Amino acid sequence: GSTNADLLARIGTVGADSMPPALTRPTLLVAETQTAGRGRAGRAWLSAPSAALTFSLAWPFEGPLQGLVGLPLAVGVAIAETLAGFGVDVQLKWPNDILRFGSKLAGVLIETASSAQGKVWAVIGIGINIAIPDEIRQQIGRDIANLQALAAQDRDLLLGVLLSSLTHNMQQFERDGLAVFVERWNRLHAYAGQTVVILDHGKVLHEGTALGIDRIGRLLLQTDKDSTPIAIMAGDISLRVK
Ligand code: ATP
Repeated sequence: GSTNADLLARIGTVGADSMPPALTRPTLLVAETQTAGRGRAGRAWLSAPSAALTFSLAWPFEGPLQGLVGLPLAVGVAIAETLAGFGVDVQLKWPNDILRFGSKLAGVLIETASSAQGKVWAVIGIGINIAIPDEIRQQIGRDIANLQALAAQDRDLLLGVLLSSLTHNMQQFERDGLAVFVERWNRLHAYAGQTVVILDHGKVLHEGTALGIDRIGRLLLQTDKDSTPIAIMAGDISLRVK
């Protein structure tokens, strides 16, 4: 089904005989394919067998909880910096997408849950397109990017390097929050200086020039050249470039 859903189900469980035991430490779940991959707000993340790198990392979170809203941004930086090491240049679309040549290459979905002991876990789901079968392209109905040129053995290596980068970034994020990622995110920002619209269920909420993120991960938008930028929180809103 969904690697996020499977890990979330292992966080609340108390370990009844018929259930797999509850997680006690960071855990990675990798799927060859997903039949019920998830995006934000119930949207679907589509993939086909061997056509994507899909995995989730369950992480017992030690940092301050109010900081968790910035986590998708720190994860995006880990993905982009890791891909750069493989010769793949990507840009970041606020709040949770990774673009290549302007189209979506990868998505991040972070969900949280509390264990029976009251420990908060972040489940970080990542889907990276390796190849895009035609039927998936048609279902999504817009251009999507992939890593087709990456040799099969490099995909395993990519997963390994990404895991080590994520682990490193998670530890840094728990300790210092988003601060150390802000400049790195802004350097990778796909729409810096471009006119974008912020949509809520298809309805335009704001239009302006995208500047970058602030220290808590809000998107700064210059809606009027004479006033101070407004700061947008990532809720269930979407961003489109104009
Ligand atoms: P949007 O991409 O519309 O701005 P979003 O970033 O909020 O929305 P998510 O909820 O993160 O999107 O991801 C789900 C969306 O991603 C789907 O609605 C679909 O448009 C798109 N999508 C689904 N599968 C893939 C895929 N394999 N590759 C690229 N895009 C996909």
